[in-house]
Parts: sequence; C-alpha cells; structure tokens
Amino acid sequence: MVMFTSQRTIIKVLKSSNFAYPKMTENATGIFRLKNFLIYTLLLYILSCSEQKEKTVKDNEVVTILVQPFKDMNSGDVEFLVKEIKKVYPKVKALEPIDLPKNSYYKPRNRYRADSIISFLSKNTEQNFVTIGLTTKDISAPKGNIKNFGIMGLGFRPGTACVASSFRLHKKKRNEQFFKVAIHELGHTQGLKHCPEKTCFMRDAEGKNPTDEETDFCEKCKQILMNKNWKFS
Ligand SMILES: [Zn+2]
Ligand SMILES: [Zn+2]
Repeated sequence: MVMFTSQRTIIKVLKSSNFAYPKMTENATGIFRLKNFLIYTLLLYILSCSEQKEKTVKDNEVVTILVQPFKDMNSGDVEFLVKEIKKVYPKVKALEPIDLPKNSYYKPRNRYRADSIISFLSKNTEQNFVTIGLTTKDISAPKGNIKNFGIMGLGFRPGTACVASSFRLHKKKRNEQFFKVAIHELGHTQGLKHCPEKTCFMRDAEGKNPTDEETDFCEKCKQILMNKNWKFS
C-alpha cells in the first residue's frame, strides 16, 4: 500500500518535471528516471530505517555522568555539585581530583583553554560516559577575534565532555551559580542548544553572568532531556 502510493507520487513528480536527459527518447527518459527514483526511494527508506534504529538504541543507553574535579577544587564544593546534579540525573559518579592538563595553560593571561581541557577529558571518556571537568581557575575559549575570551564554561553539542569554572561567579552565590553553569554545559553535551527562555538553564550567557535569573530548564529543554533518562518531578 505504501509502495503503491509512493509509486503514484513518483509518476506525478515525473510528469510535472521539465528536466530531460540528453540523447534519449521521452519514454526511455521516463523509465530511466522512474527506475532511478525507485532505487533512490528504496535507499532513502533503508537509510532512514537504520538511522531510526540507531537513534532508538542510543536513547535507551543510560549514560553515566563523571564529575572530574581538578586539584584546585574544594571537596565540599564538588560534593554539593554532585548532589545537585543527582537530583535531575541520578547516574553520577565523582572521580578523584587530577591536575589540569599542562598544554591548556595560557600564561599571558593566567588562563586555561577550555577547548584543550575538553579534548583532554574526551580522550579519557569511554563510551556511555560524559565527563564534566570542574575548576576554580579562569578558563577561556576563542571568540571572534579574541583568542582567549574568559568564560564560565564550555561544552560541545553533542559531546562527551565539558568544563565549568567558578572563577567568574559571584563569591556569595558561588555554589548555586556553579551548579547552573555545570548543568548548562551538561545540557550541551546532551544535544541542547541555547534557549530563548530567560529563566532556562540553557540561556546564552552572552559574555555576562545571567545565572541568577535562571530557575530551571524550560519545558521544551526538559522534554529533550527526559528522552535521555533525565528525571524531573
Ligand atoms: Zn552554552
Ligand atoms: Zn530551555
């Protein structure tokens, strides 16, 4: 039934098409095109099917979030973040603190390059794991013409690793803000884009620190995360 409908559609498309192959009679062209179309449709069908399957399997995999503190982090702050992340994503494991990768250090500005930290973490992250690096040090990423633009966090979309820094956060609200930065970067690794909702954790910081205005993930972002085993009450 499906095949019949698509064949009819194909013929309709062929009839309305003005494109002609050179050195062919009109009939031969029609058959040739029909044949190509059928092969193409079949191929597309097979491709979309396997894509669908892969996606379903991927969505069912329960990823473990690894919290990787760097040695400058206070253990109490790490515990707080782990506890907060667990409220929305139960499968979290804290790792032992390690040194920041030496090659990420940018001496002129006493900053660590976030992209270098991420590639270091990614290399050590196995399949079905996502690592978030935590540091109190200033981190940076290239932005436009600026090579070392100071940032609060960075995460690729989707990605296996991300990094969050508490350096640019308000001292009195540090832990609360740090959680918001961390969850934002983890959101990117899960495939979330920046969100236009001002109160959503996925809001674009645009070079500032708008975390105090953020209250939660918005319903749209939550829906995407819930398909990836995140829990919201
Ligand atoms: Zn972002
Ligand atoms: Zn959102």
